[in-house]
Amino acid sequence: MADDNVMSGPVFEIDSENFKILWPELQRTMRESTFIAIDAEMSGLGISGTFQRNAEDRYQTMKAAAQSRSLISLGMTCFSLVSQTDTSNEETPNTVFYKATSYNILMLCAESFMIDPSAVAFLTGHGFDFNKLFSCGLKYMKGNIAKSKQGDSFARKLFEELVRVRKPIVVHNGFCDLIFMYECLYASCPSKLSTFMADLSEIFPSGIYDTKVVAQFHERMNSSFLEYVAKTFHTKNAKAARTARPNIVIELTSGSTEDLLGPIITGEDTKSSIEICTQFMKRGYCDKNGPSGQGICDFSHNVTDIILFEETKKRKRSRQPVNEPSRRNKESKLDTECHIVDHHFTAQCHRAGIDSFLTGYSFAVFSVLHATELKSRQILGADQTLAFTSEIPNLSDSVKTELVNRLYLNGHHPLWVTKSHFSKSSPAHEENIVRIFLGS
Ligand SMILES: [Zn+2]
Repeated sequence: MADDNVMSGPVFEIDSENFKILWPELQRTMRESTFIAIDAEMSGLGISGTFQRNAEDRYQTMKAAAQSRSLISLGMTCFSLVSQTDTSNEETPNTVFYKATSYNILMLCAESFMIDPSAVAFLTGHGFDFNKLFSCGLKYMKGNIAKSKQGDSFARKLFEELVRVRKPIVVHNGFCDLIFMYECLYASCPSKLSTFMADLSEIFPSGIYDTKVVAQFHERMNSSFLEYVAKTFHTKNAKAARTARPNIVIELTSGSTEDLLGPIITGEDTKSSIEICTQFMKRGYCDKNGPSGQGICDFSHNVTDIILFEETKKRKRSRQPVNEPSRRNKESKLDTECHIVDHHFTAQCHRAGIDSFLTGYSFAVFSVLHATELKSRQILGADQTLAFTSEIPNLSDSVKTELVNRLYLNGHHPLWVTKSHFSKSSPAHEENIVRIFLGS
């Protein structure tokens, strides 16, 4: 599989030319996963400035965007628990071993669709190859497509497999991603949000976890854009390993995790001379260095610098008693306004494949961080490779209850993916589910 045409660093590129060859391996990897992290790139969101605070309004806006724009790539990283060692193991005490395989899948809508100039500027600026997308993206038709008309859409086949394997799904700020995936690869989005939520709860019955919800509502991080969250968890994981508390080690199928995560940040490094861009620190992007690319910001946008800056501040604060009230409430309001932008316009983490890795990595670290100690176990035996798993190991029941099926909506409360007594699932979804599981 480690072909030069396929590999681009630690991420496998999947397109219409190599899909058939890679499909059996891809299918096996998905089936063996403990959980699957996903991230989508779109041709635009068509939203400028104003955001709806109401969940239903936001759903309607994003649904309209998914109908006019399209999904252009899907990042997917499959994480499978290999084993975990207990405290008695001297070499690797309290370590959970995961295997991870990252894919970047090019997706091409076969109908007319809109592309936002800001999305093109951003994507090409970060190495996205539109020529490659148009020449060999996996073709799909949006909405409700009869089986006979779908032909051999690899894109839809892939999404159906994602449904079939029934694994826990991990996203970062994934509400929008899920709407685009549903509209482009599954069925026309239902008219009401409650119906969409009911459908989602059945499409991914092992639960959806959103790492932006984890960062903001559970970990109470100062910021919650993806790169910041991943690097913060990366640092926490390194500290846990040094002190023999539960930690994780990830083996990538190809390449090194260091390429994707960067250096580990230690509090001892001090770079007090560097000035941090406060807007970037809060939101993950800066108007001066934004997608439109006008102007140059004089302050640092380096996430490592930001985390160091916070560590230094924390240490200074801990030396003197401070009565400063938390500023989190104000920050979360700012964050609400920018929740869509921060995910898809984060510098450096441009590619869906890499973003899906960072998302899953954050979640894997989070899941062990709160465990007091691990029970030694071996997971992937030769005979167990296809074992059905729907539980995230080490995630306590109380934490799971708090986070499962909560999608990031705004700084105040998450959106709950559930089928209520008053909501029905959509007819198109019911038809799809039957076809996927019964093959009719
Ligand atoms: Zn700036």
